[in-house]
Amino acid sequence: MANEQKESSRTSILSLPTEVLSEVLVRVASSSSTDLFRAKLCCKLFYEVSEADNIYQRVSLDKFEIVPWQKNDKLSRFLKKCRESKNPEALYRKGMVDYFTDKHKDSALECLEEAANSGHADAAYALGIIYIFFGGDELKRQGILLLSGMKKSRILKGRVKLCRENLRALLRMIWVKNPMFLNPTLICCAMTHDKKTSSWPMDADDVEESTCEGCACDEEIGAICAALPYR
Ligand SMILES: [Zn+2]
Repeated sequence: MANEQKESSRTSILSLPTEVLSEVLVRVASSSSTDLFRAKLCCKLFYEVSEADNIYQRVSLDKFEIVPWQKNDKLSRFLKKCRESKNPEALYRKGMVDYFTDKHKDSALECLEEAANSGHADAAYALGIIYIFFGGDELKRQGILLLSGMKKSRILKGRVKLCRENLRALLRMIWVKNPMFLNPTLICCAMTHDKKTSSWPMDADDVEESTCEGCACDEEIGAICAALPYR
């Protein structure tokens, strides 16, 4: 009897279609990387299925520091594989750290764009800010469109405050070296209407709901600049 039970449970695991097992492991991975690593140790099949791109693409990175303070080759290899598998959070983190520390700026922007295109709200918000700072009429226009689009969107509107807080928190962690953030200029010249505020808001909670797209962007930029360490 005991042997029969043993036989049937072994059969049930081995006969589970790989796609189903993969879907289960994707869910495990997206809620906890620790649980995924434990599952990988269970058996060869779990290990092999867990090595697929779709697992790396969805694995949660919550457990890991956004800015790793110590060099860790194993973690670096894991994060690289996540990025190669288009994990939006991994792309976002790499893009942010590289961009703001003034390293590999082109590939950093590509990472952020890829993350934003796959629906990563923090990446979209950060890109809007970067485009506006980066300057050039076309990029600036894209940045304004991105930010004001988010603020107008029924779905993303509620996310903007969180994106702003996340970016401010992240900038406090990164050693910001990119010189272009030193001198922000106003987007809205306020010639056509009265400005609501006469200075940059210093607190994320002070950002007002502005009907003017230029003012709306100025408010976001002001809140971000206030979080930069050298101000
Ligand atoms: Zn305005």
